[in-house]
Formats: sequence, C-alpha cells, structure tokens
Amino acid sequence: MIVKLKHPAPDVAARLASLGASVRTLDFPFGLFLAALGGDVPPAKELQAMAGVEWARPSGSKPLLAARALAPKGSQVTLGRAVVGGTTLALMGGPCSVEDREQIVTTARFIAAYGATGLRGGAYKPRTSPYAFQGLGQAGVELLREAGDASGLPVITEVMDPADVEAMLPFVDCFQIGARNMSSAPLLRAVGRAGKPVLLKRGPASTLEEFVLAAEYILLEGNAQVILCERGIRTFETATRNTLDLNAIPVLKALTHLPVIVDPSHGTGRRDAVIPMARAAVAAGADGIIVEVHPDPSKALSDGAQSLHFAEFRRLAEELGPVALAVGRRLDLPRTQPGGVPYIRRAAGWGSAT
Ligand code: PEP
Ligand code: MN
Repeated sequence: MIVKLKHPAPDVAARLASLGASVRTLDFPFGLFLAALGGDVPPAKELQAMAGVEWARPSGSKPLLAARALAPKGSQVTLGRAVVGGTTLALMGGPCSVEDREQIVTTARFIAAYGATGLRGGAYKPRTSPYAFQGLGQAGVELLREAGDASGLPVITEVMDPADVEAMLPFVDCFQIGARNMSSAPLLRAVGRAGKPVLLKRGPASTLEEFVLAAEYILLEGNAQVILCERGIRTFETATRNTLDLNAIPVLKALTHLPVIVDPSHGTGRRDAVIPMARAAVAAGADGIIVEVHPDPSKALSDGAQSLHFAEFRRLAEELGPVALAVGRRLDLPRTQPGGVPYIRRAAGWGSAT
C-alpha cells in the first residue's frame, strides 16, 4: 500500500505497523508518503478516511511513486552544476572503461572544456565475455574521482555488486546501474539506500513498464534521485549493436516524472551514428545525452568502435545547441576554451556524420 500524506500522520503509520506491515516514510520533493509492504493492510478506503491522508493505493504491478501524476511537470535530479530534467540539457561523457590516470584525466579536462556536465567511466565492467577486460575495480573508481576533481565534473560509474556500494560511495557522485543489471532487486535496493543519484539504464530486453518498475525499487528506499537512460534494445537488426528506441522518450515522460537521458553510444554501437542519434534524442525531448569518448578510440580496452574522438565530442556539443533551442531547451557551452581563448561557435550547420 502506498499512502500519500498531507502532513506527517503517525497514527496512520502506527495502524499499518500494527497490522504487520513494514512501514517506511518517504519524504520526496513531490510529496510525503508511507509505503506499507506486507502485512494484512486494510482496504484503501479505510485509510483514506484517516486524518492526514490524501490518498491510499494498493500496491500492485504498476509504478506508484514514479508515476507522472505525482509531479506533472517532471522531477529533477541535481548532479554537479547540472539539474537533470530542467531547461538546460545534461551532457555526460567519458570512456567506456577507466584505463589509466592520463586517459581519464585528459578526457575529463577536454570534455569539461567543451560543455560536459558529467564524467562517466566504468571501473566494474559488465563484459559479455569473461575473457574481456573487466575494469580496474576500486582503483578505477578512485582514478575517476581524481579526474572529476581535476575537471570540476561530477562522476558517474557503474556498480555491479551491492557489496561494492559502501567502498565506492565516498568517490562517486552518481551510481550507474547497467543494462544487464536493470532488474537486479538487491542492487536497486542498495543504490536506493546509498542516497546518491542513480543513472538507471534500460535492460536490452525490458519493456518500458518494467524499466519504470525497476526505478520504483530505488524510490521505495527513499531515494527519488533517479535518472532513466534509454540505451537501445535488442532487435533483429544487426547493422547496429542495439536499436535505439527513441519512442521511449515520450512514452517514459507520460509514464513517469523521472528525467530521461539517452545513450547513443551503446544504442548504436557505431561512432558514425552517435552524433545524429544524439541530435534526434534531443529533438525528441531527452533531458540529456551520455556518450563514450576516448583520447584514442583505436586503442580503447572496451567499446572503441562506438567511442567519439575528442574533436567529435566537441562537434557533438556544438551541434546539440541549435537542436536544443529548437525544442525550447538549451545547452550551456563554456565561453572560453582552455587557455582563455574565446570559444567561437561553428556555424549551425549539421555537419557530416563522422
Ligand atoms: C556502459 O555504460 O559502459 C555500459 C556497459 O552500458 P550498458 O549497461 O548500457 O550496456
Ligand atoms: Mn561501454
């Protein structure tokens, strides 16, 4: 049972607890709630008659806390200087894997200078083959933090095991739940309890409703700082690594109040498709873009084929600006390049795909 309160109502919590439910209070910017799980809860009607109750809904198979109706204008997640879900777009970038200090610091500094609002980098890598590079683990998390501090960017990295959350927590600004782990309830609960923003990626074979229900697990732990990320789904098409489902943007926006960003790197698997699909995602109403960038993609230890070169990241930032403006959003680019050179915007042509 989920109960929306008008104000704190200890009587309601006590009544639910007396019936054997495990009761928690969830205090979100979009309302105060009681979640009562298990137990022999009374019918919603009975609770609805109690003082302080706005509504009570039986918990079933539909998302309740993530439902759009709770925040019709959308909710926002603050990550560094970016407010994801506001007018300004979030632009996150970084290598698939953190490889060494120079690689991650150089990338962080470059993308920060050209408009990024967040630094991504995998340290615990969910590789399809157990023989592929598995990431640097906690050492990679700490290098990512160094790079975040060197560039002023908040850092986002994937956690695969609930047991790692505690050690990662002091170094991380946002936990990523990867596509392969989207529906891992213990992991969702663990990042929910950690209380930091979460970037939740859609499973490659998950429906949008399943995706939002995975987010609901995090909210149920009292953490509403969830950013949904569409990263492509598996289809019959083999020309791309995945099929980037841009339908997800308007549909998720109708289902849920959570911000929605798009990952055209994993969504396509092809460098030449990343910028066009990023533009399309912004045009379709995404709240931000996350892309893979590497100083030398030909030498990347993972996902080189879909990683942008630095110059391409810069072009991405430049080309997203006019698209953002066309749909009532903006992308804030720094006014100066490193070294204080004025940043001159290229003409607003679409450029070529590579
Ligand atoms: C990643 O971001 O590098 C990654 C592994 O993504 P996904 O979980 O979407 O495959
Ligand atoms: Mn990757």
